[in-house]
Amino acid sequence: MKNTILLLLCFFVVLDVNAQIKTNTQSADSKMNSFIDVLMKKMTLEEKLGQLNLPSAGDFTTGQASNSDIAKKIKEGRVGGLFNIKSIEKIRDIQKVAVEQSRLKIPLLFGMDVIHGYQTEFPIPLALSCTWDMALIEKSARIAAQEASADGICWTFSPMVDICRDPRWGRIAEGSGEDVYLGSQIAKAMVKGYQGDDLSKNNTIMACVKHYALYGAAEAGRDYNTTDMSHVRMYNEYFPPYKAAVDAGAGSVMASFNEVDGVPATANKWLMTDVLRKQWGFNGFVVTDYTGINEMIAHGIGDLQTVSARALMAGIDMDMVGEGLLTTLKKSLQEGKATQQRIDMACRKVLEAKYKLGLFDDPYRYGNEQRVKTEVFTDENRKAARDIAAQSFVLLKNQKNILPLKKSGTIALIGPLADNKENMPGTWSVATDFSKAISVLTGLKKSLGSNANLLYARGSNLSEDSLFDVRAGMFGKSMGWDNRPADVMINEALETANKADVIVAALGESAEMSGESSSRSNIEIPKAQKDLLAALLKTGKPVVLVLFTGRPLAIKWENENVPAILNVWFGGTEAGNAVADVLLGDVNPSGKLSTTWPQNVGQVPIYYNHKNTGRPLSEGKWFEKFRSNYLDVSNDPVYPFGYGLSYTSFSYGDIKLSSSSIKNNESLTASAVVTNTGNKEGKEVVQLYIRDVVGSITRPVKELKNFQKINLKPGESKTVSFTITPNDLKFYNSGLKWVSESGDFKVMIGGNSRDVKEAMFNLK
Ligand code: BGC
Repeated sequence: MKNTILLLLCFFVVLDVNAQIKTNTQSADSKMNSFIDVLMKKMTLEEKLGQLNLPSAGDFTTGQASNSDIAKKIKEGRVGGLFNIKSIEKIRDIQKVAVEQSRLKIPLLFGMDVIHGYQTEFPIPLALSCTWDMALIEKSARIAAQEASADGICWTFSPMVDICRDPRWGRIAEGSGEDVYLGSQIAKAMVKGYQGDDLSKNNTIMACVKHYALYGAAEAGRDYNTTDMSHVRMYNEYFPPYKAAVDAGAGSVMASFNEVDGVPATANKWLMTDVLRKQWGFNGFVVTDYTGINEMIAHGIGDLQTVSARALMAGIDMDMVGEGLLTTLKKSLQEGKATQQRIDMACRKVLEAKYKLGLFDDPYRYGNEQRVKTEVFTDENRKAARDIAAQSFVLLKNQKNILPLKKSGTIALIGPLADNKENMPGTWSVATDFSKAISVLTGLKKSLGSNANLLYARGSNLSEDSLFDVRAGMFGKSMGWDNRPADVMINEALETANKADVIVAALGESAEMSGESSSRSNIEIPKAQKDLLAALLKTGKPVVLVLFTGRPLAIKWENENVPAILNVWFGGTEAGNAVADVLLGDVNPSGKLSTTWPQNVGQVPIYYNHKNTGRPLSEGKWFEKFRSNYLDVSNDPVYPFGYGLSYTSFSYGDIKLSSSSIKNNESLTASAVVTNTGNKEGKEVVQLYIRDVVGSITRPVKELKNFQKINLKPGESKTVSFTITPNDLKFYNSGLKWVSESGDFKVMIGGNSRDVKEAMFNLK
């Protein structure tokens, strides 16, 4: 009786708290609404259109801001926000123009591409995703927000959550890989990290989920190219991460450059209004990508006035750079091609964002010199960057336990990426100071101290083509061109290597070989470096390949010939220190791939959660006539999704199910005992996959549904349990209804998507 009363009391307390939260939110909303109502009543049409305008600040120097062309527009109320502007002084100067010299004194939004860190750069997003550690990912976004906000930024164009199954696309580096479940978890973590629990705090910033939608499915992996896919695929395989970010409260969404169903996303009303606002309940504002409206002229759907009106009416609220909305909507309104109601709504959405960020209370709240001194690029932040970078590395091969290296003897560090700082932060690192990044040479030197002898030689250029080097070294990230002939550089490297006990080859891509407009049709390591690697292998000494890349590479030959491969992506400011930590065994690697690594580019797109087809290849077979396969290569990847080794080893026991069948309102538990069978403490990402064996539409051969990252001491075992609910079995059917269907399901648990234990259950 006593317990029942207690339970009832708890129930009412919870009800009361929930009701209280709801009332508070409602009253905050109504306060905001009346504030904006009053403000908008005072606004002219021009001033409303001004709020929809987001120019790039270009590069004014401090003091010039208030005299610039943009300042003139701001005074006239023709600018809603600015981006590409860095430093408190500049931001303050220009905000001052807005709040002191414009008629209505509406503060500006200040945006920036804070993609994987601010001054303290974390690993590129693709690398971050390989940590499979949501707390760490959230922490990286939290620190980025803290640093950026101290410097005056209140809005970031991140997270980028585009699913990508095509490593030719350079922007695969900016996302979380090929999987919709992992991608959705990361989308949530990033939004939480940036926005915290209160957007109006001076150390949280507004997130902008991008690029909505399907940008990662560009045909042939060529950036900005056409996308075309079925709605079933969109809903099941590409939309969920955007939706997850929206559900997590992302304040803004960025439209993508590509077309969807034949209409550029920027003018696609179904996408921007029906799906985003009506189906998902998105309540923030939508910004175009850079000149996204103007580019619709080249897409071929009309002149600037037409495409601007279409963008607005589709649901776009803010125009990045192109000024189509600013300059043409008045005419479109007069001609009945745009509505006042839609202009008002777009303006309201932008003003709401400013209100929620607290800019109307204090337009200067996001810049603080004191905070810059104590919160930006601090030892603590750099330590976090170093830890996170080490967690993002993926050990791809480690024959005869070459790694970790001994901290003694002589190590030859060879390769064009060994002594380079500029490339360590990776693509989209606009706010950091490259000169403060740590190279591998510096990191190893520091960690080894006088315990071992470290030798260095460059060995080769990035590629054999100096013009390619220029294209792949933009934004101050040149690798520097060495004029010596290739064989002279290789011979020098061999001389160095011959003096050593072990060779560490730091090779791969430069930072700008991935990222925006950096697609590749050949995804191998450039030939100049491959020649160097082959020569190093011929010495017969143990070779460790430390691989830099922003995408999955085709490294079949390397996998067959190099005894140890550590993939280090672009690790951020502390890359070199983190590489040393892992190479020397101070950190045991635990990263797992978030993409499938193909044997060659001809297998692309290749992804683990593919369909079975009507003519699947029998397990373990390479070629069978009239089966779905290739004549010249097996269907297998070099490394499957979810793969990554450790300095220890793990074994998996058989799966135990709490029940072999469940009803539609029940759940079951799948568990497996995981044991550390090696002699080092290590972390393992235990992955749960499910296959819906029979469906009303064809279903993937497996889908990641959950994972747990666990730590095990040598010899230690843990039972890892996953609860499977009917919700985990749901998918969008041909009518785009979110359903689960009765029948058999295969459960798989393992340390990657290929090597799994299996069990079956039935949904009644
Ligand atoms: C990119 C966006 C980025 C924007 C602003 C565009 O070119 O596609 O991802 O946020 O520029 O810099």
